[in-house]
Amino acid sequence: MSNIYVVGSINMDLVQQVQSFPQPGETIHSVHSFYSPGGKGANQAVAAAKSGAETYMLGAVGSDAFADELTTSLMQKGVNIEQVLHKAGTSGVATITVDGSGQNHIILTAGANGELTSEDSQGWYGLFKKGSIVLFQNEIPWRTTQDTMKAVRQAGGYTIFNPAPAMPIPEEALPLIDLLVVNETEAEVISKRAAGTISAAKQAAETILETGVPRVILTLGEQGSLYMDQDGLSFVTPAYSVHAVDTTAAGDTFIGALAARLALTSQFKDWNEALAYASAAAALTVTRRGAQESIPTLQQIEAFIA
Ligand code: ADP
Repeated sequence: MSNIYVVGSINMDLVQQVQSFPQPGETIHSVHSFYSPGGKGANQAVAAAKSGAETYMLGAVGSDAFADELTTSLMQKGVNIEQVLHKAGTSGVATITVDGSGQNHIILTAGANGELTSEDSQGWYGLFKKGSIVLFQNEIPWRTTQDTMKAVRQAGGYTIFNPAPAMPIPEEALPLIDLLVVNETEAEVISKRAAGTISAAKQAAETILETGVPRVILTLGEQGSLYMDQDGLSFVTPAYSVHAVDTTAAGDTFIGALAARLALTSQFKDWNEALAYASAAAALTVTRRGAQESIPTLQQIEAFIA
């Protein structure tokens, strides 16, 4: 069985619900507020662990009050935290304000995530083996991501890259990617084409494959997802029809669950099955509020599909 390693961000999300956004200089009361663990890396790790995969978080927290809470929360959800580094200063924090119409403002403090150096990541290289599946996003310094991708490939591991938040991919990194997973916005930034419908997405995916990336999955919210690879396999997985109440972490759940399914069941042979599973996992997530707490378990996902 392949282990899953997630090289990425760990954040505390501070969510404030307000009636309307404050003007500069104005002080207002929130209607409701809470904080909960998030960060794309940590969310994907939780999704993989909840789907039954042996999952390791490779990232950093700070030395503030959030640090312990963030690592404990990961551990309680089944993620191995032995390799999480502790840096001086603040942990990653996302301050999210949501107004009465559902619009949001997000201020991201990279904190310890932004301090994760390529030298730090060298301590993890010995973990990677043939068959290891390693997930990356764009919430830690790019140099760290790229150097770690190289180490994974040298060890015979498999790299899954989710370039979120959206950024163009440096040319030298393209040969290091085994599977690229992008949403509509990320697909548009990378392909420089529209990708908002399945037919537009097919053209965007073809443009992305021309860069040399061997396979790409393009997710399109309730329109489902598109898989396309260099061997000519291409298919659409429809989204499950559910009553969505909060789409936070849909993409992260999709990726973590997909990685777990590839590791445990499909062994990279049955992409249709793995994508149907990932899409069920993400559909369940959007029916629940929150980030990590909304991510379903293997049993819940299998019961939903059955
Ligand atoms: P992101 O959260 O990264 O923007 P998407 O919105 O494309 O990602 O969602 C990822 C996947 O989650 C979709 O391909 C789909 O399978 C599932 N999904 C997202 N939104 C919904 C929804 N409203 N109903 C059902 N499935 C959804």
